[in-house]
Amino acid sequence: MIIWDDSLNSLFINGKWQSSISGRSESVINPATHEKLTEVAWAGRTEAESAIQSASSAFHSWSKKTARERSEILYRTHELLLERVDRLSTILTMEQGKPLAEAKGEIRSAANFFLWYAEEANRLYGEWIPSSIPGKRLLVKPEPIGVIAAITPWNFPSSMIARKLAPALASGCTVILKPAPETPLSAIELVSILAEAGVPDGVVNLVTGDALEIGSALMESRDVRLITFTGSTEVGKLLMKGSADTLKKLSLELGGHAPILVFEDANLERAASQTLASKFRNSGQTCICANRVYVHENVKERFIDLLQNKIRHLKAGNGLEKSVDLGPLINRQSLDKVQSHVEDAIQKGAKVLNGGAPLQVDLSGHFYSPTLLTKVTNDMKVMQEETFGPLLPLQTFIEEADVIHRANDTDYGLAAYLFTENLSRATRVSEALQYGIVGVNDVFPAVPEAPFGGIKQSGIGKEGGSLGIHEYVNIKYISTMID
Ligand code: ADP
Repeated sequence: MIIWDDSLNSLFINGKWQSSISGRSESVINPATHEKLTEVAWAGRTEAESAIQSASSAFHSWSKKTARERSEILYRTHELLLERVDRLSTILTMEQGKPLAEAKGEIRSAANFFLWYAEEANRLYGEWIPSSIPGKRLLVKPEPIGVIAAITPWNFPSSMIARKLAPALASGCTVILKPAPETPLSAIELVSILAEAGVPDGVVNLVTGDALEIGSALMESRDVRLITFTGSTEVGKLLMKGSADTLKKLSLELGGHAPILVFEDANLERAASQTLASKFRNSGQTCICANRVYVHENVKERFIDLLQNKIRHLKAGNGLEKSVDLGPLINRQSLDKVQSHVEDAIQKGAKVLNGGAPLQVDLSGHFYSPTLLTKVTNDMKVMQEETFGPLLPLQTFIEEADVIHRANDTDYGLAAYLFTENLSRATRVSEALQYGIVGVNDVFPAVPEAPFGGIKQSGIGKEGGSLGIHEYVNIKYISTMID
């Protein structure tokens, strides 16, 4: 059993763990059992302002450290995360609900982001431009952008933080982290590991608490030069509006509505198992997970059979138990949203092949049965809005051009997937899909070494890869005339 002995002191400001000024705290609930795990401090504007002050004071010395010094701290963080994978994944499952195997995968992914950016810290190169004017020397130099704020969601409570903090710290920025109120414990663990790994006081600050108060302090601050956010498109837009007055840079990873296209020349066994993995991982609470499937009319029956067989074997329950595939939804509103999408679809003529109702599990959490719908039309909510639950609508198609059009007909543009064994088709379709990420026979595209990010209303900027660190730098151009 994991015990948090000091969780009321969950604010980490200028290297010191502390409680909120008002003494206010909020419970952290296990979404599988509805047991209270602990309480954490509930901060507001004042604590957020102290955190900004602390990050501002620490910026000069952190940014002046050598890349190698910063790299070593990030490398040590990677090692500590791997050493503690059992503890960290257990905490993650307890506060978030996902199966332990997925939680372990997430901690390893977080560790790998620190490893990648430990290496990348040493490769943040500039440029020397040949001048057209005699005597001039033209230098392009990347410099850390300054104090950054990271606002993170509950669906990946550890890796979403790692994807932001690792490149920010590698480039020399200092940080204020505001995690989701549902999952503050993984954030507390990660920040204490960063401190143990040698991050100096003030370089990383953690404020758990009121999103509106903390958010407005971050948006209004002249010192905070970038907000990196993962969450809903709605909140992303609020942050963008709120950052206009101080003209901050924004890095936004927002919602998605990922299509999966299954062509008649696909390896159907692989397409079905990958569709299942994409849709039901984290109980469908993943921004890049499949939201709709288009299968070619000629292979529809076999594909549906394969899917249904696999869906029947999914086991729901407490993620800490071995053999559980599906954890709970994070809260009641999430369950209500899934149910409302199902009801809306049924009312408009959809047919339920599997599931279609909340799942009775011998636990107090909100579980929903893995659901497959056919006879789906485009006016149904499930085809327009992100469900964020274990619900999969399926349509058929005949023409390639038609399915590309249908896949692109959305304001979202995060991830899309296609299954085909034909190289020409794979190339043609992946180029035609208007998405930031395209998976060809692959629904797990997110790796530290590649740029992850959406287009259209799914976001701005990239996380991961060598582009990921460029979010956190300003490019300075120095023109020198010499004698
Ligand atoms: P979800 O609906 O999945 O919880 P949100 O976009 O509401 O996604 O939340 C993602 C993160 O943004 C969380 O840390 C949340 O507390 C924070 N957040 C929500 N509203 C605001 C806001 N107005 N200003 C700043 N942060 C916010």
